[in-house]
Amino acid sequence: MQLSNRITHITGGGSDGWDVFYKARRMVGEGQPVIELTIGEHDIRTDPVILSAMDKAAKGGHTGYAMVPGIQSLRENVAKRIEERTGVETTFENIMITPGGQAALFAAHLAVCDEGETALYLDPYYATYPGTIRGIGAVAKAVQTHAEDAFQPRAEDIAAKAKGAASLLINTPNNPTGTVYSRETLEGIAQVCKDHELWLISDEVYDTQVWEGTHLSPRALPDMAERTLVVGSMSKSHAMTGSRVGWICGPKDAIENLVNLATHTTYGVAGFIQDAADFALNQGQDLEDKIAEPFRRRRLIAKDILDGQNTVGLIPAQGAMYIMLDIRATGLSGEDFANRLLDEHLIAVMPGESFGQSAAGHVRVAMTVDDESFARALTQLCEFAAKIA
Ligand code: PLP
Repeated sequence: MQLSNRITHITGGGSDGWDVFYKARRMVGEGQPVIELTIGEHDIRTDPVILSAMDKAAKGGHTGYAMVPGIQSLRENVAKRIEERTGVETTFENIMITPGGQAALFAAHLAVCDEGETALYLDPYYATYPGTIRGIGAVAKAVQTHAEDAFQPRAEDIAAKAKGAASLLINTPNNPTGTVYSRETLEGIAQVCKDHELWLISDEVYDTQVWEGTHLSPRALPDMAERTLVVGSMSKSHAMTGSRVGWICGPKDAIENLVNLATHTTYGVAGFIQDAADFALNQGQDLEDKIAEPFRRRRLIAKDILDGQNTVGLIPAQGAMYIMLDIRATGLSGEDFANRLLDEHLIAVMPGESFGQSAAGHVRVAMTVDDESFARALTQLCEFAAKIA
């Protein structure tokens, strides 16, 4: 039987660019001591205090259908957090709780793009972006960013592709580049959105991982709250990747419609998971800082190691749990470099090309192993690059 074009075309055909990752996983499965610096997951698990809150909620009976838009206290908690950070009035009616940021990205695009409309996203990009757009039946169009700008998007590049598009998806702090968009960048983006009547979908799942500069949500910019859907998540901020809990923040009528969508798709998020998320947010900044701390530390370790050589370039690592390295001096593509590093040194990193053409000749290193292994792997990576160059 024939499946729908929409579902069979989600990946866009061909390789998904994650071959090095799958190969590394196979090698680990065979017992080889590979250091995996590939995916964006903490090397710690969800904090026991959050798990206790989850356990208490589940045993207390919060295991039935939960309210589809989210439980009231969590919606209010998220709204308060966003209002504090943006200065824009935000109530629970601006928030819908989702099963993680990814489900929020899908729902947000479905809410603002009709079938066949163009949805813009920036290259390099988080791996699921084009598939998410294709999955809702829209046409995914990439806008290139440039290594020489440290991957800060140029408003004129976006404007050049904006005619007739329905939406633009951005991500700051950025995966895979580690770039935190400046106020100037975001003001330029906001202007393009206003000039071209675009919805802005702002993926801010790394907003607690900022090492340099400050995170600015475009919701805070003039006249942007009415055309912005912010995507947030507990995955990265609270090491709750497996709990699948996040949110969309946007105009009230958009949220009302998104709730209709959720009623016909996810039917909400488990109540005990939401209680745990609510509890986690109530722990405040200290817990978030504790979870971000290893990445803050490892980024400094990386800077030290990279300062001591001149073959590998570091894209200013301003936020998120990754660093992007420019290995063009080796003459290899990111993919060849990553494959050889894995085969010859048992170190797995992601080729820049996995995230689009703008990051060709780069590799992304996830700072998600213990400090000592991280330092050792990075030192070996630099030595390997120097030898080739
Ligand atoms: N957005 C970005 C940029 C990500 O890197 C990720 C996960 O790695 C997600 C969204 C999805 O996160 P989750 O669905 O776990 O909230």
